[in-house]
Amino acid sequence: MTDMTSSTTPSSKPAKPKHIILTSHHHRGSGKVIPINWGAAEPGDRGPIIGSIRNPQHRNVIGTHAGSYGVYRALAVASGDLDPTHKADLTNTSPPVQIGPYPSWSDPDKIVSLDPFGAAAGDIFTDYAPEEHDILPTIAITKAHINLPELKDAVSQGRLKVDGKLLKSDGNLLVTKAAIDPVWYLPGIAKRLQIDESDLRRVLFQQTGGMFPELVTRPDLHVFLPPIGGSTIYIIGDEKAIADPSKPLAVRVHDECNGSDVFGSDICTCRPYLVHGIEVCIQTAQEGGAGVIVYCRKEGRALGEVTKFLVYNARKRQEGGDRADAYFARTECVAGVQDMRFQQLMPDMLHWLGITRIDRLVSMSNMKYNAIVHAGIEVVQRIAIPPELIPADAQVEIEAKKASGYYSEDEVLAVEQLAQIKGRSY
Ligand SMILES: [Zn+2]
Repeated sequence: MTDMTSSTTPSSKPAKPKHIILTSHHHRGSGKVIPINWGAAEPGDRGPIIGSIRNPQHRNVIGTHAGSYGVYRALAVASGDLDPTHKADLTNTSPPVQIGPYPSWSDPDKIVSLDPFGAAAGDIFTDYAPEEHDILPTIAITKAHINLPELKDAVSQGRLKVDGKLLKSDGNLLVTKAAIDPVWYLPGIAKRLQIDESDLRRVLFQQTGGMFPELVTRPDLHVFLPPIGGSTIYIIGDEKAIADPSKPLAVRVHDECNGSDVFGSDICTCRPYLVHGIEVCIQTAQEGGAGVIVYCRKEGRALGEVTKFLVYNARKRQEGGDRADAYFARTECVAGVQDMRFQQLMPDMLHWLGITRIDRLVSMSNMKYNAIVHAGIEVVQRIAIPPELIPADAQVEIEAKKASGYYSEDEVLAVEQLAQIKGRSY
């Protein structure tokens, strides 16, 4: 047993592994690797996701757990703070509610970017010696209260009512939330993007600076744990109502915008629209249905915040100032594309929840709408952001988006009119 009392002294820090085992080729005994049969209905047939670093011979995936946070784990091991042989103790970590299984879980075309069995991995793979194989959940579910000042305003203005169970008088909102790490089934990702799997694997290898050689040397491994951010699903109301077609469902799919979501910056509509989505979710849940917010870590259209801030400066300083007719062009100048979010993978999370119909989609994005409908999910009504929630400086963004195909009940502005929509100059 580890002596916890002396763990702060340098001499007692865990030993770092000195030898290197290349992952790019089969290991001796790799014939015993547990196969992954993606799309199998029974978890025992599908097989567990094993990204063990401790026991490389057991690995049946490329990459490691925890997405980009795996790099912090490396720092913790390198600095001697984390014992690389640590085994996760998953006692009492099981989900407080059960999601699924749904028919979509066993459709290998419907879910390709997450593990539908990821939340139960700690419980359902007991036949596979989970501790020995480092079988870890890739989804975690818990319950929480969230408290947003705008919801209190909505109550005082009569748009929301306190029910004492879901929405409480102190403004607390009861939610169930699920954190999802990406698990990519590469043949399915390639098929979804209509590209060749070997091309996908080669470019993933090249564009990560050769970080994962198995992408090109191990065609026998089909599952990749990519080093990217995950997603969080917030469920408002009864989770069993989500997949029940007799109950109404509201959904907002929101891509991270830290500046607005957390700090309330005024250049875009992200936080106001997110909170409006939560408001619609509460109303729908109070009608006996449920609401779902899907929050994806795809900062700045998945271009990152550095690119985003560069674009902000370029927009403000261009000739003629920040204006709606040049909104997308500035992003393309800096990043080479206008958007890198690949909404085609997003509906996987809706399929994981068993969603077949969305009564109220709180989104104006044509890319999200098209992806959802193309995935076979019916959308009954699309809800635009109420005009009074749009910050003054965000008029540039919203008019540019509407002109590019975003959903709107208003008339789309002509190019000359777009040029007249201007933001602040600093
Ligand atoms: Zn934003």
